[in-house]
Amino acid sequence: MYDVAIIGAGPVGLSFATALAGSGLSAVLVERQPLSVLEDPSFDGREIALTHHSRTLLEQLGAWAHIPQNAVSPLRQARVLNGTASYALTFDTGGKDEGPLGFLVSNHLIRSALYAALQGTPDIRLIAGTGVESVTTGAEAATLRLSDGQEIRARLVVAADTRFSRSRQEQGITASMHDFRRSMLVCRIEHETPHEHVATEWFDYGQTVALLPVNGAASSLVLTRDPAEIERLNGLEPAAFEREMGQCLRRRHLGRLRLVSTRHAYPLVATYAHHFAGRRFALLGDAAVGMHPVTAHGFNLGLRGAETLAREILSAKRRGQDIASPAVLRRFETAHRLATGPLYAATNAIAVLYAQEGLPARLARHAVLRLGGQIAPFRKAVSAMLMDRGAAMGR
Ligand SMILES: Cc1cc2nc3c(=O)[nH]c(=O)nc-3n(C[C@H](O)[C@H](O)[C@H](O)COP(=O)(O)OP(=O)(O)OC[C@H]3O[C@@H](n4cnc5c(N)ncnc54)[C@H](O)[C@@H]3O)c2cc1C
Repeated sequence: MYDVAIIGAGPVGLSFATALAGSGLSAVLVERQPLSVLEDPSFDGREIALTHHSRTLLEQLGAWAHIPQNAVSPLRQARVLNGTASYALTFDTGGKDEGPLGFLVSNHLIRSALYAALQGTPDIRLIAGTGVESVTTGAEAATLRLSDGQEIRARLVVAADTRFSRSRQEQGITASMHDFRRSMLVCRIEHETPHEHVATEWFDYGQTVALLPVNGAASSLVLTRDPAEIERLNGLEPAAFEREMGQCLRRRHLGRLRLVSTRHAYPLVATYAHHFAGRRFALLGDAAVGMHPVTAHGFNLGLRGAETLAREILSAKRRGQDIASPAVLRRFETAHRLATGPLYAATNAIAVLYAQEGLPARLARHAVLRLGGQIAPFRKAVSAMLMDRGAAMGR
């Protein structure tokens, strides 16, 4: 019997498994994708804006060293624009010598770095290419049934199996879901005008456009529109796509632009589980909190949840207690709900308000941005949240 069985070797499952390495707990990580995909994941369009705290955690896990440093792009400033107005709400570090606001790293590089870090942890077993079919939990242990017929018993099951988590459903844990009825297209573009490591979020009418600065004369283009529109854009020939994006982004003065990556589309559905734990069962990552990407916090919060759960179960182990007792899981759940609930609600409110276009909404959109710009403590608080310098906890 294992101490911990983890479902899903996405970035959060991998992080949590690595956090348990060397602790004396036995752990198994089950992933339905084949090993070749884990070893060398392909570009999926996502550029993850990491906070300072997440960077520290990735360093502690031994993953940061596996990310090529020329693939880490510092984020010096974020600018938010609304509709056709020229006013921009800006967030930065206030000129203090605090380094950048955050760091942009491609999701596939984070995944391969975490996989590489896991290779240095022989006490964690990885089963790839086999999905978890069912989970049953009992008073003393939980049992996972895998698609190849294997059965695995563990004291605690941790599910990091996407925002549509099947095991969450199976355990009777409901989740609130918000379908934004929009899709997001992500890809890399090269452009003539340098970005100076400034990110732009432009809440236009009919679309939202984010330009995230990556190293070189390139940005990650993140375009949110109606799903049918995104499908159409995704199907265009590169030259036609470049022409249309050139038109769409002409007010951003990027100069000539060129598509330099594959394009990827994601439907926008946010989820928040009504509980993060059950009997011998806990949820992590998107399975617990599936954020709308507009505030760039899904993985950051997933990492934080992995840190919190690891801290609670390791401290129970040190005290000689059951690592999956209701008290341990309750402490994890309380802390993680506090860390995620307000940001989840605020993110959804922003996404809903800035997708509306009637006159009252247009006025509210403008007023919110102006007000935010005039309240210095608000700007400082948002910058601090984007940076998240919270001290990383020892393992
Ligand atoms: C366009 C976009 C931009 C984003 N930008 C940011 C950003 O800037 N900052 C940020 O912090 N976050 C960002 N995010 C969010 C971030 O990508 C996610 O929060 C993160 O990938 C979630 O990781 P996860 O491991 O929880 O889940 P996933 O990445 O969904 O991985 C889940 C894994 O579980 C496996 N699995 C599922 N079911 C089973 C099963 N039954 N058996 C075995 N394995 C199973 C899957 O194969 C998968 O590998 C963005 C998301 C998108 C879509």
